[in-house]
Amino acid sequence: MRLSQFHLVTTREVPSDASIISHKLMLCTGMIRKLASGVYSWGPLGLRVLHKVENIVREEMNRSGAIEMLMPTIQPKELWEESGRWQKFGPQLLKIKDCKQQSFCYGPTAEEVVTDYVRQELSSYKQLPVNFYQIQTKFRDEIRPRFGVMRAREFLMKDAYSFHLSQESLSTTYQAMYEVYNRIFKRLGLRCRAVQADNGAIGGQHSHEFHVLADSGEDVIAFSDQSKYAANIEKAEALAPNTTRPQPTEPLRRLETPGKKTIEEVSDFLKIPRAQCVKTLLVHGKKGLVALCLRGDHELNETKACKLTELPNQITLASDSDILTATGTQAGFIGPVGLPASIPVFVDHSAAVLADFICGANTDHNHYSGANWGRDAHFERIEDLRLIVAGDLSPDGQGQLRIARGIEMGHIFQLGNTYAKAMRVSVLDEQGKKQVPLMGCYGLGISRIVAAAIEQSHDQAGIIWPEAMAPWRVAICMINPKRHPDITAAAESLYQELSAHGIETVLDDRGHRSGTMFADMELIGIPHRVVISQRNLDTGTIEYRARKAKENKIIKREELFLLLKENGRDNGHFLEN
Ligand code: ATP
Ligand code: MG
Repeated sequence: MRLSQFHLVTTREVPSDASIISHKLMLCTGMIRKLASGVYSWGPLGLRVLHKVENIVREEMNRSGAIEMLMPTIQPKELWEESGRWQKFGPQLLKIKDCKQQSFCYGPTAEEVVTDYVRQELSSYKQLPVNFYQIQTKFRDEIRPRFGVMRAREFLMKDAYSFHLSQESLSTTYQAMYEVYNRIFKRLGLRCRAVQADNGAIGGQHSHEFHVLADSGEDVIAFSDQSKYAANIEKAEALAPNTTRPQPTEPLRRLETPGKKTIEEVSDFLKIPRAQCVKTLLVHGKKGLVALCLRGDHELNETKACKLTELPNQITLASDSDILTATGTQAGFIGPVGLPASIPVFVDHSAAVLADFICGANTDHNHYSGANWGRDAHFERIEDLRLIVAGDLSPDGQGQLRIARGIEMGHIFQLGNTYAKAMRVSVLDEQGKKQVPLMGCYGLGISRIVAAAIEQSHDQAGIIWPEAMAPWRVAICMINPKRHPDITAAAESLYQELSAHGIETVLDDRGHRSGTMFADMELIGIPHRVVISQRNLDTGTIEYRARKAKENKIIKREELFLLLKENGRDNGHFLEN
């Protein structure tokens, strides 16, 4: 590409509404422009990068045997009523009406559409297993769209849906997709980690998310410092302590704790470590209030708590007046000792091994010391209820857990037969019997990957694209071409030769000063820069600089080709099919 024929508009003035670096750099380079909250146009530069990601994803999906198709973005209400998600999906579902007052939604995902498609297309076991995928725009009315295309309302996703007649077959495709994702991230040049994930409302047994580690990430993940274990913090299991509960040594004693409501206030006031206190939360269960007890230094993991059969799938804390009515005291002074029998108590593993602990006395401005399970307080069950903390033992028994922030790039699920059953899909098996197929689904955020790559790789001067994602791999800059016509000729010839080798190259022929040219090529992150000037023409060499390097190198023309070949190999440009 000759830059004079392209549309490149850069600025170094950072827009005030961008808070993370990828959003800033995407605006400064004109990769994206905002149209409305969470809705962006992709400029020509951004689109080149988006296409790179899309192509790699498409190649790897095809290689795995998945079959590409394209489904509509506008989906009829009736389908969503069949699956039960017209209401359940919540406010993120953008509902629209056509001129005949028929209701539709803008697809946030396509389980319903693909299930409708297969119930018309699939009839025999001979057609299974099959994995359909598409790369299509999605819309989710995110409550807080932010960070540019990272959490947009309109975004580009690759979504795949596989259908099977046995769990074994579903597991095989799931594993294949797991490997496809790893391969995609390797080719893109991104450091990404597969983590065990919670299945949320969708259900099903297995689920993994793929995260790029970055401080700006909205997800928190836990991983072992010694093994491959990694999980979303929502999912990360806390091992039960391997100690047993000591025998009580203290009598139960009621203490005045005027105005001391939080665990910090109580532990400071009584000069007792937080880990020796029990924190009691009252929440709404399916039938009345339920108490959840945790060690004072631990926090509730709501995702885990929702898994208790006694609790609904969303945690609602009891209000002050609910608490007063049920216990006769205020929040802050509740505890498991003497709690009304109508409130079942569930205790986290770590709180269950405490003896002689501090807890609320169910009387205003009073706490107990020397409280003990069994003797003074009773519980229904011991459960894993807490968020893990750094330093916890890894659930696989190897190493300790560390905590990091991540950006979710993709999510793979084994859905089971939920959709196929609700939408009455059946296929004849080998015996001629009708069977409800099992389903897997595999999402990947194409537009989010572009932003995440920038989060992972940038410096003061701008973006540092991994080789495979760069809008062009090589930039050729000419110094004073007007004064030295040979320069244009040399640059043109190099440009032609690189292009003939299939190496995407941009020739900066805009006639700008060298400072501006260099700054632009650094800002837009071109991995390799070549400068053609009178000086190196005289010596028959090329001035070369890798975007990641601090210094220029004087090299021979042939060396440039070798170097590009080497770099490309690492990043999948030359991966054999
Ligand atoms: P998140 O927790 O970030 O909202 P999600 O769990 O809702 O993600 P999925 O429904 O699994 O996401 O969608 C598949 C992929 O689509 C995600 O892994 C992510 O890469 C991408 N994605 C989801 N929501 C957005 C969004 N608002 N903007 C950009 N990409 C998104
Ligand atoms: Mg979401």
